[in-house]
Amino acid sequence: MKLKTAKNEEPLTSTLQWKLLPTAEQKELIFTTMNTYIATVNTLVSEFCVLDQVDRRTTADVIAELPACLKNQTLRDAKSVFRKYRSACRKADAWNRKHPQEPKTATCAVLKKPAAIWNNQNYSIKQGKLGFPVFKDGKSTKIYVNVLIPAEQLNLWNHTKHGTLRITPKGDKLIAQVAVIHEEPVPFGAGIMGVDLGLKIPAVCSTDTNKIRFVGNGRKNKYLKRKFRSDRKRLGKAKKLNAIRKSRNKEQRIMRDIDHKISREIVNFAIDQQIAVIRMEQLTGIRATARTSRKNEKNLHTWSFYRLSHYIEYKARFAGIRVEYVDPAYTSQTCPVCGKRNHAKDRTYLCSCGFHGHRDIVGAVNIRNAVPMANGNS
Ligand SMILES: [Zn+2]
Repeated sequence: MKLKTAKNEEPLTSTLQWKLLPTAEQKELIFTTMNTYIATVNTLVSEFCVLDQVDRRTTADVIAELPACLKNQTLRDAKSVFRKYRSACRKADAWNRKHPQEPKTATCAVLKKPAAIWNNQNYSIKQGKLGFPVFKDGKSTKIYVNVLIPAEQLNLWNHTKHGTLRITPKGDKLIAQVAVIHEEPVPFGAGIMGVDLGLKIPAVCSTDTNKIRFVGNGRKNKYLKRKFRSDRKRLGKAKKLNAIRKSRNKEQRIMRDIDHKISREIVNFAIDQQIAVIRMEQLTGIRATARTSRKNEKNLHTWSFYRLSHYIEYKARFAGIRVEYVDPAYTSQTCPVCGKRNHAKDRTYLCSCGFHGHRDIVGAVNIRNAVPMANGNS
């Protein structure tokens, strides 16, 4: 099961991935459908760009050799791509007003990878086959494709509401990605735990029963990042652009995997400790920058903190654990005993009141004791 990050107000979903076993004819039909689907989305987006707005067109106005339900979905996808572009344009404009000497331009996404999306009304699973409409001989025709569904996923499928079906190739295989919508879990636990995210130690947890847990291996992460960066520098000199892109994707994959493991360990620890609430620092653009200078980190890391906090939030939500965000100001400087502000020397925090401790533990304790902010990490 592949976990997807979700904000609190959205339904709790996860994506199941199943391998399709189509006949040669079905495979061709599916590929034609996916290619037409993506081309139609791109055409619609370019038309919105010319009009500079989303007009009032409906499914009936979409000209494409696709079943009506897919036309409807291309329209939704195109609107979403266009709105993202418009939002990027507004951000670029705001930037350019402040920094006219280094202007930025927003670019509109052009979809490349074949894919198509069916909504939950338009596909079904029966007797090991996935049924969905494609366009065949000038009309919409439902095809039934053999699909491999692990037993426990079939059970989950039978007991949850369903979201969209997306079909996309992975290597030379076709993969069906189906969204399942879960019931909100019942609230769990009683305690509060602070989690301090950092580079030297990826995460420090501190519970209200004074249990501490260090999670992840900062040195190894740093080594990996350095290795990938020097690899790419070497490839850059040799002008091997394709290899650079592959190296970047591989680094992303490894880092994502590490973040999944770290977040899993944090949430498992929280479950063991009967935690009801996990508190973390809020990382917005400005806050993240403030944090960056504080811990002498580069902007690059903002994104990884953001991703890790979302993974923690998502896994915690599945366990019925609430996540709260706190103001990151002074969390590493304030003495947890007397409230005085001090600067930690190296890794040790020392206060005139007599308190001393590991600097990262101080951060986690202060995050745990901080008053949560009204809004979430968004
Ligand atoms: Zn003190």
